[in-house]
Amino acid sequence: MNASTVSAVLPARTGERLAGAVTRVGDRESMTVRSPFTDTALGTVPACRPADVTAAVERARAAQSAWADRPLDERASVLESVADEMLSNREELLDIVQAEAGKSRLDAHVEALDVVLTADYYAREGPDHLRSTRRGSGFPLVTKTVEHRDPVGVVGLIEPWNYPLTLAISDMLPALLAGNAAVLKPAEATPFTALRAVELLTEAGVPEDLVQVVTGDGETVGEPLVASVDYLTFTGSTETGRTVASLAGEHLIDASMELGGKNAAVVLPDADLSKAVRGLVHGSFANAGQLCISFERIFVHEGVYDEFLDRFVAATESLELGAALDFGPDVGSLVADHQLETVEAHVADARERGTTVETGGQRREDVGPLFYEPTVLTDLPEDATAASEETFGPVVSVTPVADADEAVARANATDYGLHGSVWTADADRGESLARRIDAGSVSVNDAYLGMWASTDAPMGGVGDSGIGRRHGREGIRKYTESQTVATQRLHPLVPANPLPNRVAARGASLSVRALRRLRELSSFR
Ligand code: NAD
Repeated sequence: MNASTVSAVLPARTGERLAGAVTRVGDRESMTVRSPFTDTALGTVPACRPADVTAAVERARAAQSAWADRPLDERASVLESVADEMLSNREELLDIVQAEAGKSRLDAHVEALDVVLTADYYAREGPDHLRSTRRGSGFPLVTKTVEHRDPVGVVGLIEPWNYPLTLAISDMLPALLAGNAAVLKPAEATPFTALRAVELLTEAGVPEDLVQVVTGDGETVGEPLVASVDYLTFTGSTETGRTVASLAGEHLIDASMELGGKNAAVVLPDADLSKAVRGLVHGSFANAGQLCISFERIFVHEGVYDEFLDRFVAATESLELGAALDFGPDVGSLVADHQLETVEAHVADARERGTTVETGGQRREDVGPLFYEPTVLTDLPEDATAASEETFGPVVSVTPVADADEAVARANATDYGLHGSVWTADADRGESLARRIDAGSVSVNDAYLGMWASTDAPMGGVGDSGIGRRHGREGIRKYTESQTVATQRLHPLVPANPLPNRVAARGASLSVRALRRLRELSSFR
């Protein structure tokens, strides 16, 4: 791909229009956004200052209550229109995502479809998750107890570059449906995807000021954002997540942290190896391995290890690397120098410790400045960096194990716990093994897509992989505060005059005993 093809994705006027939508209260320095495909400048966005964050939160807050006052089904229908807008503008969005993030078109396409699925899911099921519900009361018939769900106010979203469309928009949609405003801080590398997507939200009917975008450096913009919003959704590295979580704690706001992983797949001897190889090649090298739920470790039963490895290496070698705005190449570029440096450092360290590089292990400047070959390692020692730290690149190790117990033990030998995968002909066995893997999600006979597309089910990490969940009921209720309203039908529950406290206490004890007995006898609530 040449520089002019990349530049044509974002004509100067489009870039200026999008950058003009960034919230700022004065002239700001510019930050240049470059395409990883060619290292060409795509455009510039303002390097926002803390004052811009304050203005963004104020504007969002001012727009929030009118939005929250709109009936829930109206807000839901705006989400349906968001899905329509994403579909009708898909090609343009895919171009921008590819140009900014350097990914293959198929990887960009998954992002667009994810937004559509998420918008449709929350438009359909969100109102039910938010509905006021009767709760069991301490004193049935006497107290009527109802739980209501109110928007928190302004939700801040700090997002990474690897899935710039999905993570910016799909995590925001439930917040909007719940009646909140949002302030989005996209990653430095991928602001134009976020800005164009937010423009599409407005075209779909999201009120003008309800969603604000601030661009710039993480510390300068991200930290004041945490300090001024009512809830924070953070997706990024575990290291930054710790800083952001402690800031959120300081400001006493709730937050979800979607962080890194060192995901493991387990291949049992009865697995269909063709499916396992196909699934795990995709699961390891999708988005050039820059995917939080991709696999960096594969443990294969020794009985099928040799055959699996031969087929896995051959399938890896058949992947086409390339920079093209079409569905040709399978694997795209790494996003930036720092990413390439990490990948090279992990592979160099593994080599020094005696690892065999079965395939890959080289950068590919002939394809583009930041391309790296899909790489398969064997004999990776447990003390190698690539065995324990997240590489976040196209590098996976394959290791033989004696049995399922060893596979589970090795899969769990990490502080991360984001995603896992089990391959076996016996789905029941796969499911019970999945329950032994310490991760927020596990796919059986699949890499991750079926799990991710199960938008009704919560998704997130345990341990160093994070706190909180996206998707499903948890993924929208986190953007709300609960309010419990308990109405007494008879007398207020205070000692009744003129009874002495001793008599009232005895009466209360008798009532509690009677209630316990009744509950034993029936499912009486
Ligand atoms: P990162 O932590 O460097 O940056 C993420 C975001 O945080 C960026 O917008 C950045 O500007 C901002 N930031 C940086 N310092 C900050 C600070 N002090 N205060 C507030 N914000 C700050 O992560 P990255 O390199 O952009 O993304 C890659 C990481 O994200 C990987 O570890 C990957 O596993 C993880 N990730 C996790 C998920 C998930 O769902 N669990 C999804 C995608 C990516």
